[in-house]
Amino acid sequence: MSIKIGFYICHCGINIAYRVRVEEVADFARKLADVVVSRDYKFMCSDPGQEMIESDIKEYGLNRVVVASCSPRLHEKTFQSACQRAGLNPYMFQMASVREQVSWVTEDEDEATKKAKTLAAAAINRVKYHHSLETREVSVHPDIMVVGGGIAGMQAALDIGSSGHKVYLVEKDPTIGGHMLQFDKTFPTLDCAACIGTPKMVDVGQHPNIVLMTYCEVVEISGYIGNYTVKIRKKQRYVDVSKCTGCGECTRACPVKYRLYTPEEKEVEQAMTDQGGQDG
Ligand SMILES: Cc1cc2nc3c(=O)[nH]c(=O)nc-3n(C[C@H](O)[C@H](O)[C@H](O)COP(=O)(O)OP(=O)(O)OC[C@H]3O[C@@H](n4cnc5c(N)ncnc54)[C@H](O)[C@@H]3O)c2cc1C
Ligand code: SF4
Ligand code: SF4
Repeated sequence: MSIKIGFYICHCGINIAYRVRVEEVADFARKLADVVVSRDYKFMCSDPGQEMIESDIKEYGLNRVVVASCSPRLHEKTFQSACQRAGLNPYMFQMASVREQVSWVTEDEDEATKKAKTLAAAAINRVKYHHSLETREVSVHPDIMVVGGGIAGMQAALDIGSSGHKVYLVEKDPTIGGHMLQFDKTFPTLDCAACIGTPKMVDVGQHPNIVLMTYCEVVEISGYIGNYTVKIRKKQRYVDVSKCTGCGECTRACPVKYRLYTPEEKEVEQAMTDQGGQDG
């Protein structure tokens, strides 16, 4: 089937037309290959603007539509619906943003018109490659994984868990907390970092909807949005976590030091070592 494209450029009142010579862009588009109809109009998103597209689809047998106007975030759905009402698959539509990306940000009229023509030509070329698509429903797995148990990951897990969803919080280090829990005070309020962080650590640990996976790393992700399968590597702890009370005795024997201690902690550490030495 031969490609038949309808091109429409919007004035947006004067929002586009005060910088872009819209009639000139419409004339330019009219001469491009496969363009059957090319028009400019004051307000493309108005009812008469949409009806113009619908009537052209029927009259000229258009199988592609391009609108050069505002951002797709604003009116892509509007024009897709117009296409659909006229019997054209909504995915045979392409939008070019000549307001946000051209008239609002380009001072020179010649430059703006040239840029609008380039965007129009690109959209017209692109729409030729569109295919009809169908929307369909697929089931999604509602569980959520959060990677990284810093302050951001902890809060995300708590928010999601409290909204009723199951969360897997994966942290590569042996403990959650991240950077913040290593500080004394935090700018700008100079609040005690541990006073903010540790209650969250406890909440995460006790939350019925959060599965905490510390000392674990993501090694493989497959699937697609809503249906991911994730492979996690659990690192060897050499400790029976069900029996560990967190007393910290083992850290004294461990030759690996993960972090810098504050002077106060160093003092305590030294005292404990001295004490241990005397005992021994
Ligand atoms: C020296 C310093 C001073 C700062 N001072 C202040 C301050 O005064 N005020 C302030 O507001 N901010 C401050 N910040 C910034 C603040 O600490 C950070 O913005 C904040 O801690 C970031 O939190 P986060 O959860 O995003 O990341 P992080 O705290 O970095 O946590 C990320 C977590 O993800 C884990 N992780 C990383 N990769 C993986 C992976 N592949 N798999 C599993 N887990 C992973 C890490 O182990 C870590 O636990 C400071 C930062 C630094 C470095
Ligand atoms: S389609 Fe967008 S650019 Fe055109 S009048 Fe409506 S809001 Fe303005
Ligand atoms: S020494 Fe204490 S912190 Fe270390 S593994 Fe045993 S119970 Fe846990």
